[in-house]
Amino acid sequence: MVNVSEWKDKKRKMCRDSGKSFISRTGKQILPKIAPDSPKACSESCRKDCGNLRIQKVRDIFTKFYDISYDEQSLVLLRYISLQEPIRRRPGITDSSSRRLATFKYKIENVDVCKKTFCNVFQISLRRVDTLQTKLKNGDLSPKDRRGCHTNRPHTLDNNVRNLIKSHIGNFPS
Ligand SMILES: [Zn+2]
Repeated sequence: MVNVSEWKDKKRKMCRDSGKSFISRTGKQILPKIAPDSPKACSESCRKDCGNLRIQKVRDIFTKFYDISYDEQSLVLLRYISLQEPIRRRPGITDSSSRRLATFKYKIENVDVCKKTFCNVFQISLRRVDTLQTKLKNGDLSPKDRRGCHTNRPHTLDNNVRNLIKSHIGNFPS
């Protein structure tokens, strides 16, 4: 028996994850994701090299990004984000508090960019990046972010995801 509302939820999630237009649960039309016109989304005073991103490369990355599943997208994003531990650790500071001081670096095409431009390249929310960063900080890198995905066999899914990653993520420039 097919559960219609469940199927609709699934379809909606697929559209959202692949950046396509869809009608939300509340009946709102969500517009498709469109590659940014200009990679740089931050102000002139930004101290990163956001202006050095090449639009052609950004569009390429953007297109590939919306061609893969949500879990794969998360892993791709993590490839561009790195966690920087604080350089100086004062005695007495515990691990957890030094982790709180850790900062993140975003590097696309060997260009250091700020968080704002990073989100703009992928047309994603700051919140999505924050969620990933929390996982990075906690050392939890497995693709656990399975919104709307219910399965009794998480290990089977893990293997499938892993295989997909092998075939897809190799296409992303670092
Ligand atoms: Zn910037």
